[in-house]
Amino acid sequence: MIAREIETKLSRLLLTIACFLELSYMAANILLVEDEPAIQELIAVNLQHAGHHVIRARDAEGALGIVRNALPDLLLIDWMLPGMSGVSLARQLRQEERTSRIPIIMLTARSEEHDKIAGLEAGADDYVTKPFSVRELLARIKAVLRRRSPQMTDDPVEVGGLRLEPETRRVFGSGRPLALGPTEFRLLHFLMTHAERVHSRTQLLDQVWGDHVFVEERTVDVHIRRLRKALEPSGHDRLVETVRGSGYRFTASPA
Ligand code: CA
Repeated sequence: MIAREIETKLSRLLLTIACFLELSYMAANILLVEDEPAIQELIAVNLQHAGHHVIRARDAEGALGIVRNALPDLLLIDWMLPGMSGVSLARQLRQEERTSRIPIIMLTARSEEHDKIAGLEAGADDYVTKPFSVRELLARIKAVLRRRSPQMTDDPVEVGGLRLEPETRRVFGSGRPLALGPTEFRLLHFLMTHAERVHSRTQLLDQVWGDHVFVEERTVDVHIRRLRKALEPSGHDRLVETVRGSGYRFTASPA
């Protein structure tokens, strides 16, 4: 029991650290929920080898404890878990506002069509049947991230004359190169891929920093200020709007 608690705390700490490190692009923080040690190890090693950062949980309760403190970019959930099932975990995550949009892939030994439907109805984005190849799993992770979390991919984004290129980590305002720090780049990438929507400071901490517990809300204000400064040379700082009492919005048509 104590070992479990230590493991959970360690996992949270590692996730927080991973979020702060400058990681190669498209590297996701993946929470792997799998009770069988050999399978857990096999998947984790392969995901890490592909550049992802893996946080592990052995059951749904452990996973919920980790998610409570820091949102992973994606969850891989085994269907058959001791205690709460993987499907129930997926359903619970979908029901809570804060976790409702986390990409989820279910892992399962079941291949029956009705099981697949049950998994997808519980809110899973995709479904991988064991035994699967590592290549297939990685391809599905990439596809789900592209669909659900465009800020995680390396596709260029263009809004209102501002262009962001994840692959080369460059930003152009009306064709003119702009210099952004790594956090401002991530923040802008998220805002541009979720334009016209208002994001609270807590949401931005969860989505850009992966953490809304250990990082203070005013950190967001500091980086928004730096981002605007960086966008000033081409006048694109106007696209980052403050919505009083709510947070921030990136818009192609500023007021
Ligand atoms: Ca299992």
